[in-house]
Amino acid sequence: MAIRIRTAPPGERKLSWWDKLHFPAILSGMMYTLRRMFMKRFTVQYPEEPIVLGPEFRGRPVLVMENGRERCVACGLCARVCPPFAIHMQAAETDDPKERYPAVFEINMLRCIYCGLCEEVCPEEAIVMSPAYDFVFRSREEAIYTKERLLVDKKQLEPRLKWLAAMRNPQFGKRYRFRITNNIHSVMARGKVAEGHEMVS
Ligand code: SF4
Ligand code: SF4
Repeated sequence: MAIRIRTAPPGERKLSWWDKLHFPAILSGMMYTLRRMFMKRFTVQYPEEPIVLGPEFRGRPVLVMENGRERCVACGLCARVCPPFAIHMQAAETDDPKERYPAVFEINMLRCIYCGLCEEVCPEEAIVMSPAYDFVFRSREEAIYTKERLLVDKKQLEPRLKWLAAMRNPQFGKRYRFRITNNIHSVMARGKVAEGHEMVS
């Protein structure tokens, strides 16, 4: 008795005599390769060549330093929203009764998942995702970034801050006019006024 061996699953398309030649498939594959040879190359010889990333890239979260001090007012929102509890902070009072500052601010980079939620909730734009991606640590202790290691001058973060402003401001404008005077006590707003931004009243 003959044994039937099923080589193709039921319903599979049957090859025509043209398909069985395999020539069109080979030709189409070669044409594709040829086209790719003349297209722009995206391969970067890293680390010899640096990778230039756009402002939308979410790298290591950092604290914005403006006029020699942190923008952070130690509200604690970022620490609360951080999914893997990577942020640890302790607030302390300043001379200004309306303000606090973070006496301790740490991010455990072994936990951070670069989600950007800390940046999203921060009312001061005091914590932002920097373009830094090539950092290393050799121990668990080194992976904990203290406030001193987190602080980055605002000038270096301008591309990201501008990108955030462009992405966020249209959301504000839909329902009401954003009034900088409403938030004039904040460190960020003071900086904006000092830069000559218009105060809408
Ligand atoms: S990027 Fe996400 S995981 Fe990392 S510190 Fe911010 S909220 Fe936490
Ligand atoms: S970084 Fe922003 S959200 Fe986090 S504590 Fe400071 S002001 Fe609040």
